[in-house]
Amino acid sequence: MRDFLRKDVTITKEVSTEYEIARILSENKESTVFFENVKGYPDFTMAGNLTPTRERVCEAIGTTPEDYISYVAKAIDNPIEPVVVEGEARVETSLDKLPILRHFEKDAGRYISSGIVVANDPEYGRNVSIHRMLLLDDSTFTIRIVERRHLDHYVQRAKERGEPLDVAVAIGFHPAVLFASAYCVPEGYDEFKLASALLRKPLELVKCGNGIEVPANAEIVIEGQIMPDELASEGPFADVTGTYDIVRKQPTLKVSRVTTRENPIYYALLPSAGEHRMLMGMPREPGIYSAVSKVANVKNACLTDGGCSWLHGVVSIKKENEEDGKNAINAAFEGHPSMKHVIVVDSDVDIFDTNEVEYAVATRFQANRDAVIIEGAKGSSLDPSAGEGSVTTKVGIDATKPLGKEGYDRAEFG
Ligand code: MN
Repeated sequence: MRDFLRKDVTITKEVSTEYEIARILSENKESTVFFENVKGYPDFTMAGNLTPTRERVCEAIGTTPEDYISYVAKAIDNPIEPVVVEGEARVETSLDKLPILRHFEKDAGRYISSGIVVANDPEYGRNVSIHRMLLLDDSTFTIRIVERRHLDHYVQRAKERGEPLDVAVAIGFHPAVLFASAYCVPEGYDEFKLASALLRKPLELVKCGNGIEVPANAEIVIEGQIMPDELASEGPFADVTGTYDIVRKQPTLKVSRVTTRENPIYYALLPSAGEHRMLMGMPREPGIYSAVSKVANVKNACLTDGGCSWLHGVVSIKKENEEDGKNAINAAFEGHPSMKHVIVVDSDVDIFDTNEVEYAVATRFQANRDAVIIEGAKGSSLDPSAGEGSVTTKVGIDATKPLGKEGYDRAEFG
């Protein structure tokens, strides 16, 4: 992380982990912020907004927004095995020494939102994924594990064996590793192999006391066990939409050991900010692209910032048949079922420029002819406007030009 860290903004005055750091990160949306003086936590400095924009994420993983989808697809097809190294000596500490933030007023408490959870399964091997963790006391978290995701399967299988699940939570390392951990790869595909492919060299790992391997030089490592049968309340928590997620019973994580680097930097990830949105949304974009590619000549696909990088998408296609736009709408919803609104545009429109996309809607779209409305569809649980069971109305906007019709082409200079 230290090699990648660019201190766009340095805060020298003493700042509090109670809301103040969260607010400063929110006020400096597109800048990496470094905090030199964290009130009550003299052992730590802190950094946030490491990759707050699409451009910074792409820089971290070695590509550009235009080439992102094909670049990641190639990396997945060419994984690189990580390597276990000796690693530097680590400093033993305890949970109460960590400057865990309180982000928003109605959050249930102090949350770690930037940790990757590393776990092993006898059949599937290693899994690495990001989970928010609510601090309960000096040795326990409640951990949010979304149902049917890989870690949920690992926990369920441990439960069937009658065992807790050994894990290690790492905080603060190269952002390519964080991106890989957020990415949707098949179960059994080790996310550290994707991280290595994105970094174009084997990711260096070190073995923890409990045998789990984590990125070498991670700023903080928390070792412990997920207890499948010991549940506790998790939430409310302000999620990617900036609204509060509901309270659920979730497994607890019992902490057995905490270590840091010398002079550790706590890495803070502000929920609902750009970094959170990018990590949620960007990994879904290749799925949208791939689904649309089956029905149309797709050029690019993205989830938009205004749609929380989750609920709104834009897809550009090279239109070859009149029905391509509507087929692309249906396919895009299949590619990302949480999406509520999608706009399909021609390939001359820059999908990353919201004014360009609005221009296409303004000049190429007629609702009675070009809108697709799907009522009673399963949507996202993160959308507060969705009904019972996240049932929602989806709208697709075909803002592509009709083929062979005059008057749509943009004027050019001589
Ligand atoms: Mn996985």
